[in-house]
Amino acid sequence: MFGAFKKLRDSLAKTRDGFVRSLETVLGRERPIDEELLEEIEATLLAGDVGVRATERIVGALRDGARRGAVDGPDAAWALIRREARALLDPRNLAEPAGPVARHLARGPRDEAAAGRGQGLGLAPPAGASPGVGESARPRVVLVVGVNGVGKTTTIGKLAMRHARDGRRVLLAAGDTFRAAAGEQLALWAERAGAELIRQEKGADPASVAFDAYARARARGFDLLVIDTAGRLHTKSNLIEELKKVRRVLAKQDPALPDEVLLILDATTGQNALSQARTFTEAIGVTGLVVTKLDGTSKAGVLLALSEELGIPVKYVGVGEGPDDLEDFDPDAFVSALLGGSA
Ligand code: GDP
Repeated sequence: MFGAFKKLRDSLAKTRDGFVRSLETVLGRERPIDEELLEEIEATLLAGDVGVRATERIVGALRDGARRGAVDGPDAAWALIRREARALLDPRNLAEPAGPVARHLARGPRDEAAAGRGQGLGLAPPAGASPGVGESARPRVVLVVGVNGVGKTTTIGKLAMRHARDGRRVLLAAGDTFRAAAGEQLALWAERAGAELIRQEKGADPASVAFDAYARARARGFDLLVIDTAGRLHTKSNLIEELKKVRRVLAKQDPALPDEVLLILDATTGQNALSQARTFTEAIGVTGLVVTKLDGTSKAGVLLALSEELGIPVKYVGVGEGPDDLEDFDPDAFVSALLGGSA
């Protein structure tokens, strides 16, 4: 846990050097919390990609606090900013609950064995164990969407590594049938992870790939099926229609499918990530976000904007290019790593 926190903290260095340091400078001066200061805080948060709504919420809370006399100086202001940031990111405050896959994947053999109890993190039930209440033995299906270059394939690879290592049988489906390179990259990750890959010829219908993949995953007892999809932006409407069809074909096999639709967003794109997210969430529904490349950007404040504006939880963050550089998103750890204070 300490290692993961350190990695997260290190990955946020550029963002801390950016708007967080500016905020420290603004708040560090011995000044009353008045309208002028609040405006400076507002401008700093907006420049840090925190987004209009999240910024309004934080500044509104500071204004109220100052009026009531509860926020009377920099320390109290910081404490309140941290509290508001945590509340913004807390999945319990979002409209959309954590998806069933997140819950299902939150249990499993190795952690359970290690912990010596029935609850652990991140794994499927042990071989021979009966599924939990309300769970069937069918594979869990994660559909992964996002525009090209955001880190979709890499994230799928990291997820495959993690779950294969934890003893799950993982099947990857190459649903971007247009770009040969996408399928090849996925094949490399599958090999690395010891996962299986299902691919069809170039130009094949992605819905047919998804259909076959689910049939194979179910017939052969896979625990987890992760379906990659295309992400070409220039023909956005075709892409969205294609994704909708993939969803429909899966839902025909089981109305509960897909269990999770993960939208991958690249933090370095800042507010662009927000507009991409709107396109995908409105058109096909998204149950969770993965925000990649936190390590390469000063725009990690965008996570606050995403949570507030979309009401969809961030499930994972990418903190590097390596196989282990994907972390479960923990709002408390994120706020501590970004703004200081205890996790
Ligand atoms: P895709 O087109 O969405 O499938 O994107 P890729 O998975 O091919 O990733 C695009 C680039 O981003 C690659 O060079 C990845 O190594 C890199 N990348 C993906 N995730 C991360 C991350 O969390 N941090 C960093 N620094 N690079 C990442």
